[in-house]
Amino acid sequence: MSKDKMLVEAIRDGIVLDHIPSDKLFKIVALLHLEELTTPVTIGNNLQSVRHQRKGIIKMADHFFSPKDVDKIALLAPEVHLNVIRDYQVVEKRKVTLPVEVRGLVRCPNPKCITNAEPMQTFFHVRVVEGGKGMLECHYCGRKTKAEEAELL
Ligand SMILES: [Zn+2]
Repeated sequence: MSKDKMLVEAIRDGIVLDHIPSDKLFKIVALLHLEELTTPVTIGNNLQSVRHQRKGIIKMADHFFSPKDVDKIALLAPEVHLNVIRDYQVVEKRKVTLPVEVRGLVRCPNPKCITNAEPMQTFFHVRVVEGGKGMLECHYCGRKTKAEEAELL
């Protein structure tokens, strides 16, 4: 059994995020508020990877995500693979996919945008650009911003 496989199989139920670019690992930890979890969390960084020079991995036992959490991960790091573990088996293994649109997740970087002046939800259209990364376009003012640089709310 490979060591990578052992990492995944070590939890009974939960989620493993794999192939996280090392420079994004702690951003993902912060955006998912993993410091607030009371269930077991294992975080590894700068592990060897064929795909990236170095990668990070996060294992969360007895914890599952909302679709909104997955959207946030995809915006920041579309390279991430999501493994869902139930009863020691990987029941789902997929790359996170960028949503077609995001509502209320990201702040518009345009200070003159109506969403920064009124108490309203932001709304962005998402396009996939080079390298599978996301480009956000504000529905209201048209300002474009790279998904990985977006300010998440
Ligand atoms: Zn805007």
